[in-house]
Amino acid sequence: MHNNNNDLTLSAPLAGPVLPLRSVPDPVFATGAMGDGIAIDPLNDTLHAPCAGQVLQVARTGHAVTLRADNGAEVLLHLGLDTVGLKGEGFHVLVQEGQRVSAGQPLLRFDLDYVAQHCRSLISLLILTNGDAFDLRPLSLSPVKVGEPLLHLTRRVLDPARPPVTEALGEQASARVKVAHRGGLHARPAALVRQCAAGFASQSHLTFKDKSAPCTSLVALMGLGIGEQDEVQVSCQGADCQAALQALLKTLGTALDTHAHPAPVTAPVIQRPAEDGVLHGVCAAPGLIAGPLLRLDALQLPPDHGQHQPEEQRQALGAALEQVRNDIRQTLEQARQRRDQEEQDIFNAHLALLEDPTLLDAAHATIAQGRAATHAWSAAITEQCQVLQQLDSPLLAERANDLRDLQQRVLRALLGETWHYDLPPGALVAAEELTPSDLLQLSAQGVAGLCMAAGGATSHVAILARGKGLPCLVALGQEILHVDSGRQVVLDADGGRLELAPSPQRLQQVMHAHEARQQRRAVQQQQAREPALTQDGLSIEVAANVACSDEAREAHLGGADGIGLLRTEFLFVDRQHAPDEAEQRQAYQAVLDAMGDKPVIIRTIDVGGDKQLDYLPLPAEANPVLGLRGIRLAQARPELLDQQLRALLQVTPTERCRVMLPMVTEVAELLQIRQRLDALASELGVSQRPELGVMIEVPAAALMAEHLAEHADFLSIGTNDLSQYTLAMDRDHAGLASRVDALHPALLRLIAQTCTGAARHGRWVGVCGALASDPLATPVLIGLGVSELSVSPPQVGEIKDRVRQLDARQCRQLSQALLDLPGAAAVRQACAQHWPLQP
Ligand code: PEP
Ligand code: MG
Repeated sequence: MHNNNNDLTLSAPLAGPVLPLRSVPDPVFATGAMGDGIAIDPLNDTLHAPCAGQVLQVARTGHAVTLRADNGAEVLLHLGLDTVGLKGEGFHVLVQEGQRVSAGQPLLRFDLDYVAQHCRSLISLLILTNGDAFDLRPLSLSPVKVGEPLLHLTRRVLDPARPPVTEALGEQASARVKVAHRGGLHARPAALVRQCAAGFASQSHLTFKDKSAPCTSLVALMGLGIGEQDEVQVSCQGADCQAALQALLKTLGTALDTHAHPAPVTAPVIQRPAEDGVLHGVCAAPGLIAGPLLRLDALQLPPDHGQHQPEEQRQALGAALEQVRNDIRQTLEQARQRRDQEEQDIFNAHLALLEDPTLLDAAHATIAQGRAATHAWSAAITEQCQVLQQLDSPLLAERANDLRDLQQRVLRALLGETWHYDLPPGALVAAEELTPSDLLQLSAQGVAGLCMAAGGATSHVAILARGKGLPCLVALGQEILHVDSGRQVVLDADGGRLELAPSPQRLQQVMHAHEARQQRRAVQQQQAREPALTQDGLSIEVAANVACSDEAREAHLGGADGIGLLRTEFLFVDRQHAPDEAEQRQAYQAVLDAMGDKPVIIRTIDVGGDKQLDYLPLPAEANPVLGLRGIRLAQARPELLDQQLRALLQVTPTERCRVMLPMVTEVAELLQIRQRLDALASELGVSQRPELGVMIEVPAAALMAEHLAEHADFLSIGTNDLSQYTLAMDRDHAGLASRVDALHPALLRLIAQTCTGAARHGRWVGVCGALASDPLATPVLIGLGVSELSVSPPQVGEIKDRVRQLDARQCRQLSQALLDLPGAAAVRQACAQHWPLQP
């Protein structure tokens, strides 16, 4: 029954009592995870088309049919609950996929008695699977006959922030693919799918079993419960549907190199002999530590009596969401600077969840009923947590913790609560379940270990705990929540045990073991200020990578022999105007001043690629990392580089200031900047010039190293970009993270060639990419001829300690053979064998 192009009245496909969706005894339907709709408890035995349209899909087990109405509405008709388990028994489908049907046409017949006896319930559903485009109004909640008006659909007035739905109508493409992601479509792979779909104008859906979810909604995607190697249907509709489909097939079919599914360090302990005073759990992050236990309780909401002004509450929620988004962006930026990919993945998924249409729509609907924003948000999350927890996947159930994290964060923002825990130093925290944000906060406050009543070893909080070296036990059971705060306990995460009443001797033993580890670290720190000489007396400079003078001060205290890379672009980002010459001069001088008598390498601005400046609009690039970035910017915006060079020329003392150029590909670029430096120095009346070096971060530069070295004072290898450009793998690609390994023999060859080329002109070579901070790589780099390693500041002591264990001659002898190994994994294995790391 059509009213106009947009509106549509759906007629009853079955006869019987009508139920609102929330009364359906199945959370996936009741929570609207699959879309809005209505239910009928059927008294007849034939399902009829509620409108004219095309049959999009018929379930292989014959218990469900999806139609597309002429106004674009997609209607899933699902007979009974859990009927997929009948494997087609009792159903007789009367139509085929692709067939056009008229309103009222019989779609499938079923054996009412058989189905009723063999499934959980006959309650059948009519669900609008692309409901974001429509508003839906039930026309009847009393029993209906087939063909009577049931639901009215009105196309929604478009939210300008969302892509126009009309764009999505039109050409369609669909295909099936096996999901390759380990553990299935949990939050991070789902976030990748969403991100991928968002790059196209087409609207895309995934369909699995008899459920469908728009790719715009992370919770709906996770709600499909797709496991590893499950086959899903991908459907795209819109002008670019073919491209969208191909991209989605690739995203789904390429395994994310996920850390979300590690082999648990200890297998889940379910049945163990009871030990007095010991709680058993699952190891989520290894370690052995003793300390006072401190219990943390979740935030409780004040009661809500309804009667709120919806507009006010909507605004409050909007502001709280924005505040949390900003906080998460800050966390992301810090993680990006630390190059912590795991943390970035986790919080990127959180950002996506905060924008999730399923969550926002549910919260807004509750607000519209006069409820407080706090309760609306809380209820929206609780509903989705239930959906995830009832799926047959522990991995997906654990993603509920990420939702609870956002629940608590947004509630805190709404209630204006400060988010801070009072912790005694070295405390072991116990909680029902900690969230990723709790963990970051606790870790910043010096927590020593984590114990959770619930949770799993594959949760995001477990990943973060491992990354931060914090021992963590999960699934300890509710008993942990009744242990008195302040009691001294032993957390033996490796053994899956929390000892609640350790003897004084046991406490001593654990404390000693912990101290021994700390001592090793302390000795490294103590000796961090000493020069790093190999056993045979070769001096290796261990410098630090920093972004500002505060970090430089810390690096200096931590024993760094200098700054091997100051990434000046951080002075330029997150602001409205470029820093002027005076500000730049002051900032660079502050770094030199922070470093005592040590040298500082200041890299000229490296924007473009993934680093963009608000005030420096650069042309849109089809391939930003292959575009106008690094030193190439000097060609596009010479005044910007001139200003920076002028500031650098005025920093004193000149002997301690070295200038380094990023992304150099040929000698001409270096010569041009040298000339500019000379010309500007004359203009300023400055007689001394800082040393000028180049980064080796594209293969062309490594291959031309000998020629570059003729004109450069030093070379510094940027292994992050050199890996990206040599291996043709995006350095930020989550799915390729483990393969973008700078120990690949191809990179080792380029590093070797760089060192040989530099040596011909008596120049030194450093490494300032992340490989320098990897102790496994230290002997290889020394062996190939690198004499400076610029590392992340906290690792100066560790890398110096590593250098001191090595014999440079032996490093040289063994390194050459690594160039002939077949891949990075083989190199890593050989390194571990030749130069084992201390446990
Ligand atoms: C590199 O590419 O290795 C490097 C040190 O530079 P950045 O990480 O800033 O691109
Ligand atoms: Mg680089």
